[in-house]
Amino acid sequence: MLPPAVLARIAEEVSGPGPSLFEVSHRSGRFDAVAERSEALLRTMLGIPDGYAVLFLQGGATAQFAAVPLNLVPPGGGGDHLVTGSWSRRAFEEAGRFAVARVAADTGPEHRAIPDAWDADPAAGYLAYAVNETIHGVAFPATPATTAGVPLVADASSMILSRPLDIAAHGVVYAGAQKNLGVAGLTVVVVRRDLLARSGRVIPAVLDWAAMAASSSRLNTPPTVAWWIALLVLEWVVEQGGAAEMVRRAERRQALLYAAIDASQFYANPVVESARSWTTIPFTLADPAREQAFLEAAAAEGLVGLRGHRSVGGMRACLYNAMPDAGVTALVEFLAEFERAGA
Ligand code: PMP
Repeated sequence: MLPPAVLARIAEEVSGPGPSLFEVSHRSGRFDAVAERSEALLRTMLGIPDGYAVLFLQGGATAQFAAVPLNLVPPGGGGDHLVTGSWSRRAFEEAGRFAVARVAADTGPEHRAIPDAWDADPAAGYLAYAVNETIHGVAFPATPATTAGVPLVADASSMILSRPLDIAAHGVVYAGAQKNLGVAGLTVVVVRRDLLARSGRVIPAVLDWAAMAASSSRLNTPPTVAWWIALLVLEWVVEQGGAAEMVRRAERRQALLYAAIDASQFYANPVVESARSWTTIPFTLADPAREQAFLEAAAAEGLVGLRGHRSVGGMRACLYNAMPDAGVTALVEFLAEFERAGA
């Protein structure tokens, strides 16, 4: 979802006079202002220390699955992965094409918890994890501990700006913009500067964090519109009361939905309580034969996008930052109504 105010601002830009932001050069003064302001806002909101570069890249979070080993691991070296769901598994598999990727822990096949401990290689080039597993609805409630000298790499795609994240505890944090920062096409990458140019490898320029940092993410044409929309979203966050307010709202939304699921005999969430996601909440029906009827009745009430990911089935509610409380309340009321109607 995008906040209605952001959609209105995009519509105004498209229909207004003169070259729109969709048409200006990424080297224009107007775009310079977009780049500078978005970085400044992101730095304030995420508490990014000065010693970190902020990059605005293309290729999705998936491109960073490859960029992580390419930038951090010297030829022949390896990296550790905590596999807690589909996305951290995909990251591990992709990293294995460019380095010796190792599974330090794997909570599969069900992925209902986060690991308590893992087999960390003290010589690893990094330790990678997904803060929030978008499909399985499993989240790390706190930063995992790492061995001194091993940079921690976080995929924060589906929780950035919805839950606190200690950037300074990480070497690298990346997030696709399409959930909480705008639309697809942009990936934000935050990298501690001492990790730039660490691997000594030949890296495609668009995946090379050092080259992208040196060119202020404009080594080539960036996804200008997606970047600008991220700025609009960040400005909206400021108007709403800032990052802390986003976290308060996310906490409230998830509490409402889990309370409804837990109070019911008909709906269930499979994740252990301490590892439950605040943003991507899967749930099942006691009678899976009623799933299609559930989705149709929900759609008739304007509740859309509730089908679970095709790999796991069931239902999933994505409660990203643009979701108003009223959206969750409407879902909770619908859950009760549907359960009653089938009783
Ligand atoms: N990581 C996570 C946690 C995701 O949720 C997703 C996409 N849903 C990805 C990575 C892949 O992102 P992209 O499609 O932008 O490459």
